[in-house]
Amino acid sequence: MDNTILLIIADNQTGDLLDRGVLTPAGFQVSQVSDATSAAAMMRSSSFDVAIVESAVGGVQLAINLAELHPALPLILIAAAEEQALMLDALRAGVFDFLTPPLKPDAILDVVQRALKKRQRMDTWAKESNRRNTDILRRRVNLLETLGKVGRSVTALLELDEVLKVVVDAAVELTDAEEGSLLMLDESTGELYMRAARNVHDDLVNTFRVPVSDTLAGEVVRTGKPILLDQESPQKIKTSYLVKTLIYVPLEVKGRVIGVLGVANREQQKPFHKRHIAPISALADYASIAIENAHLFESTEIERKKLESILTRIEDGVIVIDANEQVILANPMARAMFQHSKSVALPCALEDCFTHDQLLALIRDGHDTFPYRVELELNDERVVNAQLNLIPEIGLTITLHDITYFKELDRIKSDFVSTVSHDLRSPLTAILGYVELLERVGPINERQRNFIQRVQTSVRNITELINDLLDLGRIEAGFNERKVSLSIKNLLQYSLENLRGPLDEKKLTLRLEVASHLPNIFGDSVRLRQVIDNLLGNAIRYSSEGDEIIVIAREENEQIIFRVEDSGCGIPAADRPHIFEKFYRASNVIENVSGSGLGLAIVKSIVENHQGRVWVDSVEGEGSAFTVVLPIEKETN
Ligand code: ADP
Repeated sequence: MDNTILLIIADNQTGDLLDRGVLTPAGFQVSQVSDATSAAAMMRSSSFDVAIVESAVGGVQLAINLAELHPALPLILIAAAEEQALMLDALRAGVFDFLTPPLKPDAILDVVQRALKKRQRMDTWAKESNRRNTDILRRRVNLLETLGKVGRSVTALLELDEVLKVVVDAAVELTDAEEGSLLMLDESTGELYMRAARNVHDDLVNTFRVPVSDTLAGEVVRTGKPILLDQESPQKIKTSYLVKTLIYVPLEVKGRVIGVLGVANREQQKPFHKRHIAPISALADYASIAIENAHLFESTEIERKKLESILTRIEDGVIVIDANEQVILANPMARAMFQHSKSVALPCALEDCFTHDQLLALIRDGHDTFPYRVELELNDERVVNAQLNLIPEIGLTITLHDITYFKELDRIKSDFVSTVSHDLRSPLTAILGYVELLERVGPINERQRNFIQRVQTSVRNITELINDLLDLGRIEAGFNERKVSLSIKNLLQYSLENLRGPLDEKKLTLRLEVASHLPNIFGDSVRLRQVIDNLLGNAIRYSSEGDEIIVIAREENEQIIFRVEDSGCGIPAADRPHIFEKFYRASNVIENVSGSGLGLAIVKSIVENHQGRVWVDSVEGEGSAFTVVLPIEKETN
């Protein structure tokens, strides 16, 4: 192809001389412009091999500008001999050469030929440098693509051996090596064995075992540093296993070397370079991550299986429900308790899994305190103790413990206690009667009177205890219930009138926060009086002199809330779950505060017989608050 020359010449005559007189006949393709703007436009639209600029067009400055804008284009400046000083500036700015009038064809062709040679040299250099840069870029892109691919494998593949194979393959491809291997440290023997390989014979893979102590791979384990072997003498890395060049890098997990990733050339003396170490180390990191992930996965899986087998085998039912009311776990025992079909896959919506009313109510009723305990009666008449717990970020857990046997035992015990108590009443009445008669049948001295009084007090205490026991038996059995429409306010008033004495005796202040209007409830007035008497009586007995007792009664969500708060001795956390049990007294009761531990058991039975709930909030040493919730009477038309 013809070489192209751009003439930027103002003077037509000079232009003609150069174009038609010299350059076109010499075989050049010539374009000609006469001002700087057209020159710039022309250079934007086509490319030229050489440009010849007349200083008259834009002075030396134009030449300098063009040289800066097009550094690869050799520029020849036509300038008068007097402009020599400026020419020097132009040369410094990159102008290639000069022509000074008068212009002679030979001189013109000579300078143009030289400019063309320079242009060619520049082109060759630019191409070579481009090729080199492209090579470097291609290698980098390759490297990034390979690392990206391996990175994706690490996260996508669950099978560790597959990931390690991908890593070794990538190491071999990136370094253009003959073979690659991944050695793992066997902690029990202190040896390295081959876990993954590329182009290594299967027999060698299976039998390869080298000690850490005096081998090249072992050195990497010992020092934690990569090894690049690129010397003349072949190295034995195992008997009869010679390599010419190799790279070994450590596999590290939490600062501990657990293996070695290596590439090697056995046949040819193909060199490895330092620049190979970084990508192989990156691959080794990927392998370490995959190994660590596999360990973690394995140990979580073991833990999960352990938990699963515990949950499957325990005799207690366990149900877990998330914040969206989805059952996420129900162990076989829980499923069996509620006849939940095994085929229902979890997670599933609560009502699709369970239909037991009491269970659904337990889960759906809002509770303020956890763990919340309640007894549930199953359809097959078994009774379970359900404990509801709130676990942050998981949801509600319900553990169910079969207490049918204990309930039965409790019933037998109660029957026994009732019978015995009943049978004890007549002899006690006889004792009391005869003790009272003693005084009438003959004179007695002061000491004897004192003894008689003690006998009387003791017999009365026993009688009270027996009455409580009989009451409890009757309440639990649901006997003697006479339910009518009644006002809690009236009951409270009667109760307070009776307790005035003990209140004043201890100088306790009473604050009543009773709503002016309270709807009636449908209940047994004698029993509900017992509830109020017991709670107020306890508040008085367990308060210190001068304390304050607050009694609250109000309506909330169609329920009566009755609450007795005191600032007495409080109940230790460990005792709180048990204080509603029969005969249970907290560990902090002061010895001279008498009691049988039956009061709260009676309260609980009565409240539950009225479809209500009772619970305690207490801080040891600061006070207690007993809350009773009873449903208000339903309007009947
Ligand atoms: P007791 O006859 O022992 O009072 P209760 O069944 O009424 O039996 O109460 C059981 C236990 O609960 C008591 O022994 C006491 O330890 C604790 N208790 C009950 N009410 C209160 C209260 N208001 N303050 C502190 N402890 C209380």
